[in-house]
Amino acid sequence: MTPGGESVSPLNIPAWRSFPLRARLTGVLESRAGSAGIGLRIDNDAKALALGEGWIGAARGERNYLALVVSTGVGGGIVLEGALLEGATGNAGHIGHLIVEPEGQICPCGARGCLEAEASGPSIARATGAPAELASLEVKERTGRLVGRAVGSVANLLDLRLAVVAGSVALGFGTPFFLAAQREVDAVARLSFSAGCRVAPAGLGERAPLLGAAALGWTTRPAPRAGP
Ligand SMILES: [Zn+2]
Repeated sequence: MTPGGESVSPLNIPAWRSFPLRARLTGVLESRAGSAGIGLRIDNDAKALALGEGWIGAARGERNYLALVVSTGVGGGIVLEGALLEGATGNAGHIGHLIVEPEGQICPCGARGCLEAEASGPSIARATGAPAELASLEVKERTGRLVGRAVGSVANLLDLRLAVVAGSVALGFGTPFFLAAQREVDAVARLSFSAGCRVAPAGLGERAPLLGAAALGWTTRPAPRAGP
């Protein structure tokens, strides 16, 4: 994503390379009666999720946390000291491209062993020959372990004590995924400040990214408004 969402190139939509999302959406709004002049905010789903979970979800009241989506891709959004991290171009939080298996699969980004290349729904389907919904207990636990490995490293790096996880793969895998993720976080995040970092399901469930989009639209950065 370029700053402000002028153009986007999501790895999971190969047809969209430098897709002019802001211009296209502006065109749609201007073509509809009564929509002209509506403000437009563009951001990725995981960053929106982070805002929504901090607003009315599992991270409510937290000023430092990580939010992840484990689904078709693996994305993340980070809130530090109450503010959503943006980075130089608005792309901070891409936890899906932390290396969790150095000898693992080639990722669509070009690197080897990224979390997204091992734990996303399509990558699980490629590795097992079956849709992620049919994954075995072993695959569910492995996926949780790899997500936990990345989360533990981020907790050590950024002094975090909470990660909330959404997405069809994570929520569909359920308890075995979350128990394995927590065990791995406990094994990786062992510094005095990171030990005890919790991994929790997103409080907003499957609606989390959509409610996150609402939070994105309603909030004036850096922090969402108080909840209802
Ligand atoms: Zn990658």
